Amino acid sequence: ALLIESDCINCDMCDPECPNEAISLGDEIYEIDPDKCTECVGHYDTAQCVAVCPIDCISKDPNHEENEAQLLAKFTRMHG
Ligand code: SF4
Ligand code: SF4
Repeated sequence: ALLIESDCINCDMCDPECPNEAISLGDEIYEIDPDKCTECVGHYDTAQCVAVCPIDCISKDPNHEENEAQLLAKFTRMHG
């Protein structure tokens, strides 16, 4: 899964782009639900949130490292 860092400016660009509805506004900044984020595997070649974020504050979540097969399995679990 990916992680939104604390310098997020709450611009709301990423939220509508996520194919898994994994992004929502948290207490202070936007947050990614690691159970839903497939790093866009199964939908797109590149992470859509990263592509639109104007300040590049989205990176790999060190607490939720997953390989391609695990991400694809998550996609299949969610979308059948
Ligand atoms: Fe959503 Fe893709 Fe960003 Fe994960 S990488 S939060 S699935 S847009
Ligand atoms: Fe935050 Fe980037 Fe999403 Fe904007 S696009 S809300 S700055 S993570």
